[in-house]
Amino acid sequence: MTANQVVVVGAGIVGVSSAIYLRRAGFNVTVIDPLPSPGGASFGNAGIISADTTLPIALPGMLWKVPGWLADPMGPLTVRKRYLLKAMPWLMRWVRAGFMDRVIPISEAIRSLHKDAWDVYRDLLTPDAFSDLLRPGGHVQMWNGDEVSKTGKLEHEIRTRLGVESQRLSRSDLRNMFPGIADKPMTGYMIRGNGHTVSPRRLVRHLCDVARAEGAVFVPERVMKLIPGEAGGWTIMTNAANHLAEKVLVAAGAWSSSLLDPIGVKLPLDTERGYHAMIADPSIALPYTILHKDWGMSLSPMDEGLCASGTVEIAGVAAAPDENRARILAQKARYVFPDLKGRDPILWMGCRPSFPDTLPVIDAAPGHRDLYLFFGHGHYGMTGGPTGARLIAQMMRGSAPSIDMRPYSATRF
Ligand SMILES: Cc1cc2nc3c(=O)[nH]c(=O)nc-3n(C[C@H](O)[C@H](O)[C@H](O)COP(=O)(O)OP(=O)(O)OC[C@H]3O[C@@H](n4cnc5c(N)ncnc54)[C@H](O)[C@@H]3O)c2cc1C
Repeated sequence: MTANQVVVVGAGIVGVSSAIYLRRAGFNVTVIDPLPSPGGASFGNAGIISADTTLPIALPGMLWKVPGWLADPMGPLTVRKRYLLKAMPWLMRWVRAGFMDRVIPISEAIRSLHKDAWDVYRDLLTPDAFSDLLRPGGHVQMWNGDEVSKTGKLEHEIRTRLGVESQRLSRSDLRNMFPGIADKPMTGYMIRGNGHTVSPRRLVRHLCDVARAEGAVFVPERVMKLIPGEAGGWTIMTNAANHLAEKVLVAAGAWSSSLLDPIGVKLPLDTERGYHAMIADPSIALPYTILHKDWGMSLSPMDEGLCASGTVEIAGVAAAPDENRARILAQKARYVFPDLKGRDPILWMGCRPSFPDTLPVIDAAPGHRDLYLFFGHGHYGMTGGPTGARLIAQMMRGSAPSIDMRPYSATRF
């Protein structure tokens, strides 16, 4: 084993950003992933860098909306019947996380993790790469009708409380901002501190190049088991080899539990599967991403086309995708932009790694030496992943992380 050797399991945004910060912290870094990066959720997400988004996914009053969503085949949430029993404990925790006494501290923890996202991307990328890949400067949330929903109002209150600015948008503001948008009652907010990447895929690939240039090694293998050494260190058994490391960082997104359960690290991680329909050569060009809050759908202008993405499907990591959920997103995009034309959409499904309280785990593994946990960013991994990577590298180096890490602890559940 090389001295100071760390193995990072997983080469999504979380693993790759960690590899860079671990190299900068002086470790020898090997990243193991069987797929060319990014092969997981980091490939096809909506690409919104939600630096000024502060609200968790579970919110007060949501429980009463769930039956309506589940009954609506076009709705933003579905739970596959066969998976319902397995998902029940996670769903109960999700409901509990939506009580007001939890929403405020969770929002504060989201804020702490998200607020430096742009600075961290500037730290990871050269100025040229930053301006090629990222578009700070705004993101629009919208609702049907003239009124923002109750949860939208709550989100605005929390933003204000946390010192985040946003501006209310009228129907005519939206029509001026987005030519071709439906001529229907609608309202929204502009969040200037958010922005987007023009390609999550290209952004993560570029970060791999940065990691390689800074000395990280990538190994295309699947980790099958993590075996603690009697005298310290770890053997990482893959489909093709045994790798030795002083420390292991598990950053395998929604698949992390499959490596941790066998060694007794049990966490309530599940996946909120999401979909996208990528419409190449779209007839519209958006200046900002739009998050349609009533429909749980984002519209993001990307290199590859207009990306209509979103929805939550609770069905585990292994079930086959339901391509209709992606098709519905393309249909909904046409409700927002009735004259939208483009090529037949490319359909995609990705597994968001999610804890019920929206927050990731960024921590040392309880009960094990030199094993670290870094996954569960849910809807916000492109935003909180790189900042969390800087924090976990500080933790693994033995220095005090720059923010209070208790909200992201592995023992909070
Ligand atoms: C539809 C959708 C829209 C989204 N929109 C946004 C957004 O706008 N903004 C935002 O911030 N976030 C968004 N997200 C969330 C974001 O995509 C995720 O939080 C983030 O990509 C998670 O990154 P990750 O590195 O933890 O996981 P992943 O990207 O899933 O990477 C995990 C990696 O681990 C590897 N792996 C798994 N098992 C093993 C093993 N045994 N051995 C080795 N490697 C293994 C996998 O191959 C994979 O490459 C969205 C997600 C979806 C699905």
